[in-house]
Amino acid sequence: MSENIEKVKCLIIGSGPAGYTAAIYAARANMSPVLYQGTQPGGQLTTTNEVENFPGYPEGVTGPEMMMQLQAQAQRFETDVRDGWVTKVDFSGDVHKAWVNETKEIHADTIIISTGASAKYLGLDSEQKYLKLGGGVSACAVCDGFFYRNQEVVIVGAGDSACEEAHYLSKLCKKVTMLVRRDEFRASKIMAARVKNTENIEILFNTETDEVLGDGQVVTAVRVFNNQTNEKHEIPATGFFVAIGHKPNTDIFKDFLDLDETGYIINEPGTSKTNIEGVFVSGDAADHVYRQAVTAAGTGCMAALDAERWLAAKDSAFEVSTSTYN
Ligand code: NDP
Repeated sequence: MSENIEKVKCLIIGSGPAGYTAAIYAARANMSPVLYQGTQPGGQLTTTNEVENFPGYPEGVTGPEMMMQLQAQAQRFETDVRDGWVTKVDFSGDVHKAWVNETKEIHADTIIISTGASAKYLGLDSEQKYLKLGGGVSACAVCDGFFYRNQEVVIVGAGDSACEEAHYLSKLCKKVTMLVRRDEFRASKIMAARVKNTENIEILFNTETDEVLGDGQVVTAVRVFNNQTNEKHEIPATGFFVAIGHKPNTDIFKDFLDLDETGYIINEPGTSKTNIEGVFVSGDAADHVYRQAVTAAGTGCMAALDAERWLAAKDSAFEVSTSTYN
């Protein structure tokens, strides 16, 4: 075995509510979990402002604060929380292998996948150009809204995220224009009503983005079109926010795990088990229905319990087989 290979009982990939909850349970079951945080330590909730629906916080809590508390709780039980990005896995043999930052190789008895999901973009060249330049395109109002204080911004999307972000931006910005591609919201009634009742949010239904316009460095306007009339017009804006949903972060598993057509990992119903023995999934990587912090935490708990029981069953089978030969 090369010196660069580390053997662990339980490897947890990802650091959202699913990963940290799995870590708390696995650590308390003496599985000495090693958790890699990935590129966004704390996961999607670190980009959320107020979390008001996680039980136990009667006054609400900010996403980053909740994630710091979950991390501290996991570390209190000696979870080994590490910086690092799992870039490759190999689940083809008896040993589950994972590579961190292309170099370090880990052999794990059990693996809990909690890699979550990432923000989607429209895919327009102009959107990607200003995104890469850091010139006014963002998928996170809470992270970047501050930079657009007293300015005019545009936000795309009609789900709960878009409504939440539009409302957040309305408190910072002079004006928020919301582009909704259908003639209705997807968001829950309460979230949509909040947006509709906010004075400095203008909602344009049946409206899509034609181009993000700028001076080559920063965004200056957004050209939109009405998909019923094909009429185009420009909206002056210094910020362009995209809130159109998420993609599960499961690409590195696609050669080994069963995924659905949109890339979510398929688990055995009612469990966290994947099609590979000893590999479990929790959180948004497998959940396209609920996608809540509390459900992610719940499935993190399930994954740790499933992993512990799987390991115990394997160890006792090993003891039986070795005692037969002794
Ligand atoms: P959703 O998938 O619910 O909504 C995505 C929105 O983006 C839809 O309105 C969709 O339009 C629109 N959209 C998608 N692609 C495009 C495109 N190319 N151009 C324009 N618009 C587009 O994602 P969310 O991130 O909003 O929510 C995900 C889950 O998280 C949901 O279950 C939600 O309830 C939950 N959530 C809950 C919150 C809370 O309770 N505090 C806060 C945030 C999220 P269309 O409707 O036409 O398909």
